[in-house]
Amino acid sequence: MLIVQKYGGTSVGSKERIQAVAERAVRTKREGHDVVLIVSAMSGETDRLINLAQEINPNPSTRDMDMLLSSGERISAALTAIAIEALGERSVSLSGRQTGIVTTSEHTRAKIEKVDAMRVLVALKEGRIPVIAGFQGVTNEGEDVTTLGRGGSDLSAVAVSAAIKADLCEIYTDVDGVYTTDPNVVKNARKLVKISYDEMLELASLGAKVLQTRSVEYAKKYDVPVVVRSSFNDVPGTLVIKEDSEMEKVVVSGVAYDKNQVKLTVRGVPDRPGIASTLFTSIADAGIVVDMIVQNISTDSKAADISFTVPKTDSKAAQAITEKVAGELKAEGVVLNDNISKISIIGAGMRTHSGAAAKMFQTLSSNNINIMMISTSEIKISCVIDAKYTELAVRELHDAFELAIA
Ligand code: ASP
Ligand code: MG
Repeated sequence: MLIVQKYGGTSVGSKERIQAVAERAVRTKREGHDVVLIVSAMSGETDRLINLAQEINPNPSTRDMDMLLSSGERISAALTAIAIEALGERSVSLSGRQTGIVTTSEHTRAKIEKVDAMRVLVALKEGRIPVIAGFQGVTNEGEDVTTLGRGGSDLSAVAVSAAIKADLCEIYTDVDGVYTTDPNVVKNARKLVKISYDEMLELASLGAKVLQTRSVEYAKKYDVPVVVRSSFNDVPGTLVIKEDSEMEKVVVSGVAYDKNQVKLTVRGVPDRPGIASTLFTSIADAGIVVDMIVQNISTDSKAADISFTVPKTDSKAAQAITEKVAGELKAEGVVLNDNISKISIIGAGMRTHSGAAAKMFQTLSSNNINIMMISTSEIKISCVIDAKYTELAVRELHDAFELAIA
């Protein structure tokens, strides 16, 4: 098999960890596989470099930031190649440019345009284990170094896997795989054997940090089978693949929660066309991403209340914009609630089974938890509740949908 192994920051976080990575790569090769490695910067390194730059200049150019940050991955790639050769196998470390990863020129959040990977294939032919610096590419025109956004080494790994038609893309991290819910909240959370791209996308966008969201989109687009597993043990991980009929049998595969949003309510806005458009255009213009929206019409249908959620980090800016717009629209006022959390159930099986929503609402109500907002997609139902019930709701839903270890 042709196997791509990506190692995250904690997996290459020290000399010993780098040696362990080299050992695993060499072991895999000696089992008869072709192996390509992608590595992240050593844990904490990217943050350290960002802070260093900030101390010197609060407003560094994004081009220079990319020069700076891409160095973290080059260091771990070179050290890993050195470690592999110390074990008697041949290796070669490659930067993003040397791998032929061409990107757009949006520094610090560039998108991959194409991956040539010629040198990777040549190195494999020579019997080497190529080690690629993750997180980086190069622009077509200026040949400037770019980076792919935080967590971007996952994307590097998936993109290289697609380019060289790898049989498997293994993402090594410090957890054993993807769980039915946060094991810190629910002790008997179960590790999933497999999960569909769409479910993984929902989980990643709900804040599960095991995989970068864009890497999952890319894997889905190019049909790259991904495994999430730990570099600290030999436990098999979670396979992220195309949805199959077996997955559809399970209605709910996971429960997620997000405590990083706030709710804004505009009270008593006039009930006429154009109000929502005015409000949400102003918010979008400020670059703020709105997640859930609910509008209630009052019974005399003259005035409406509009509630919506935004990320906690944008709460001040969103509140200021909303108050300004509310004033212009002659609304009654704006109320901020920053004590909410969003609880979600996710499952490919919801496409073909009914009743998941009813069961979710029933579970919350029998625990006296009030639902403030609801949103649904084909494979997800989310409810906004009071933040103080987060853990209770997660545990009760995990039980109700029988997700625990049997
Ligand atoms: N080192 C980069 C980061 O910390 C990229 C990565 O680790 O995937 O975001
Ligand atoms: Mg990561």
